[in-house]
Amino acid sequence: MTGIMHGKRGLIMGVANNHSIAWGIAKALAAEGAEIAFTYQGEALGKRVKPLAAEVGSDFLLPCDVEDLASVDAAFAALEARWGKIDFLVHAIGFSDKNELKGLYADTTRDNFVRTMIISCFSFTEVTKRAAAIMNEGGSILTLTYNGSQRVIPNYNVMGVAKAALEASMRYLAADYGPNDIRVNAISAGPVRTLAGAGIADARAMYSWNQKNAPLRRTATIEDIGGSALYLLSRLSNGVTGEVHYVDGGFNITSVPPLEVLKN
Ligand code: NAD
Repeated sequence: MTGIMHGKRGLIMGVANNHSIAWGIAKALAAEGAEIAFTYQGEALGKRVKPLAAEVGSDFLLPCDVEDLASVDAAFAALEARWGKIDFLVHAIGFSDKNELKGLYADTTRDNFVRTMIISCFSFTEVTKRAAAIMNEGGSILTLTYNGSQRVIPNYNVMGVAKAALEASMRYLAADYGPNDIRVNAISAGPVRTLAGAGIADARAMYSWNQKNAPLRRTATIEDIGGSALYLLSRLSNGVTGEVHYVDGGFNITSVPPLEVLKN
């Protein structure tokens, strides 16, 4: 196979099903010749991920729950044992108790705050450290964030706080690993109908608001996000690190709604 990712190998963490953003990224990378290993969270999701991995020519699946550091270590040990070195890592993992993805941010509990931060933010630091240790020069690492990190978005609550910390971590990691010629970036995706997305209250209303108000008058698809991820994970973006790249139909640049919405 030819393509810009020919000869490149890497790990994608966060495919749950064929609606997952990580799946859009996997398809884009595989179409350009990448060899991909996948992690999955628990056996039930493993059954869904296995046929998807096969679709992109992969039989390399590793169980990994980022709340269990031993399973993270085991996944990276297995990756190194089979491949030695890798060229890219995708972290598309997020979780918070859906009972706290509605109502007031002020009602966030201490337990869910800590759990959300560990799964949705600190896991990125933990997997980046392990990936960088086995990454070739010129390697690239990517995480997924959302504009609720920068602005108040109803119901996003503690996830917004975790995404703000995730974006800051991404910048510190970019500084840490830049001297090793390893780049670290984030894509800030607009709302996508996924399992994780459905956990946020009023997700449908948010989705249609974005469709009506984004400059492109639509939300980003997982294929759109895959294309941008391909750029950030390939040599096309060799001079780019520490960036949050928006793939949201332009929604983040808007302030007041377009006139056709405003005047109705
Ligand atoms: P998804 O439900 O398809 O993927 C979320 C993934 O996180 C799943 O594969 C799940 O198994 C994994 N995960 C959760 N807890 C985990 C744990 N303890 N250990 C290992 N894996 C765990 O949903 P998605 O929307 O594709 O989410 C991927 C990323 O994109 C998340 O970081 C999410 O916050 C981010 N994002 C989503 C949207 C959206 O609107 N859907 C927008 C911007 C950013």
